[in-house]
Amino acid sequence: MASSRTLTLADVRRVDLGAVTAPPGDPDAGSTVPVHGFAVTHPAGVVLIDTGVGEPRPGSFVRDWRPVARRIDVALAELGLAAADVRMVVNTHLHWDHCGQNAVFTHAPFVVQRREHETARGRQGIVWEWFEVAHARFELVDGEREILPGLRVVPTYGHTVGHQAVVVETDQGTVVLGGDAADSAQSFAAEDCSLGAEPEDRARWREAVRQVKALDPLRVLFCHDPTAWQRGGDGGPPPAAG
Ligand SMILES: [Zn+2]
Repeated sequence: MASSRTLTLADVRRVDLGAVTAPPGDPDAGSTVPVHGFAVTHPAGVVLIDTGVGEPRPGSFVRDWRPVARRIDVALAELGLAAADVRMVVNTHLHWDHCGQNAVFTHAPFVVQRREHETARGRQGIVWEWFEVAHARFELVDGEREILPGLRVVPTYGHTVGHQAVVVETDQGTVVLGGDAADSAQSFAAEDCSLGAEPEDRARWREAVRQVKALDPLRVLFCHDPTAWQRGGDGGPPPAAG
């Protein structure tokens, strides 16, 4: 039985997993964005949200987007964590820059929305190959679910058909790990996204942004923006722990 210690803001940390550069022909061509995951140090074990880009190998995503992938075990070690400490992996969605190093964590279940999993399986692309290599153990979720005390996944469909965010209840307020629910804090604030981040369902995407705002979060963090959205702090400096 996990202790009931309340989570704090210091329990939520970014994991620096490298960067990708939009290829020629993309609306954001030439722009480089960081790739982050997040680690939540829960009393029951570390929960890792997204695993970044996988090892470079032949394949159009990796060729076109020139990823600089950081090994996730190295990134975790910088935070004083080991891969073995990870009890559970949440994939916000199954794009190649969010689940590329899942194979490092075959000891842990991968929490994914069922509709996202079914869509990826239907496409049988490079991402699916990574899973087959990983012999992944999925925990498929339909909508909102508490995964540990103080931690839950919530559906934020739109960027992909089964995108989800992670909601962390801390002693100072709600923190949302938004994945790609918006491409940046600015995009989240404005409820508009760049052409390069065109969602699979734009109407549903906007609805998801509003649902996250309705949680009255203290801060919302995204995978491709080092700046956090902060309640009442539009334009302010990013919070130290964000
Ligand atoms: Zn992404």
